[in-house]
Amino acid sequence: MPGTQSLNSQVLSHLQDKIKLIKTEKGAIYLVGPINLPVNLLGDTAQFKWYCWLNCDEVTEDFEHIIAKLSSANLAELQQSSVLVHGDFQNAGHALIRFHSICHTGDIFGSKRCDCGYQLKQAMKHIADHGHGAIFYLANHEGRGIGLFSKALAYILQENGYDTVDANLKLGFVDDSRDYSDAIKVLKVLRTKPVTLITNNPKKLEALRQAGLDLEGRVQLWGDISEYNEKYLKTKIERSGHLNEDEGCCNND
Ligand SMILES: [Zn+2]
Repeated sequence: MPGTQSLNSQVLSHLQDKIKLIKTEKGAIYLVGPINLPVNLLGDTAQFKWYCWLNCDEVTEDFEHIIAKLSSANLAELQQSSVLVHGDFQNAGHALIRFHSICHTGDIFGSKRCDCGYQLKQAMKHIADHGHGAIFYLANHEGRGIGLFSKALAYILQENGYDTVDANLKLGFVDDSRDYSDAIKVLKVLRTKPVTLITNNPKKLEALRQAGLDLEGRVQLWGDISEYNEKYLKTKIERSGHLNEDEGCCNND
């Protein structure tokens, strides 16, 4: 019944088997899924399973209690991260993964100031073509962790001669404040076998190794270089330590 405080038992029965509690140092991650998600991938339909997660201070297996809190938690104001899984991710011998940092301008608008939108679609295509893998979409990583509003300010500084690293530093941020620990915890629930990481960024390899993950390799993802992002990509390579065996692009990788 609409308006009742406790959850309808039938509604709860549909949901509770799809929620998993992952304990963390700070509280808990509630992981929900899998949910079927057919995706229009460069004109073809690819089948993915979608999971989303929520961080919470409260640690409980009483999911009814957690669900009951959602309507007053104002979650639309706070982005949640999610992961798209393809194929038999848990058991496959070889699987590709990518940790993709959210890029509102690149992923949604197709901005050519960075290569994020290109990397997102190409990573999904690599995974679909390979047969098994997962793409983590990290919602608190906008502008290397500075947030969308600050990224807009950083872009103005970039238009006035600062490179992407200096723009963040001048605004009082560290160059890169992204944290992969939650995503790694979710990954460990979905798969314990070795993974191959799609990235040009050695820091991501290091973060995964330090978290004790079994990495069996790396696949690079350069491309979509244009007059608009040439400088930005150059900064990534020269100042952010990105590997450039094939030449290439964006800060958010
Ligand atoms: Zn971007």
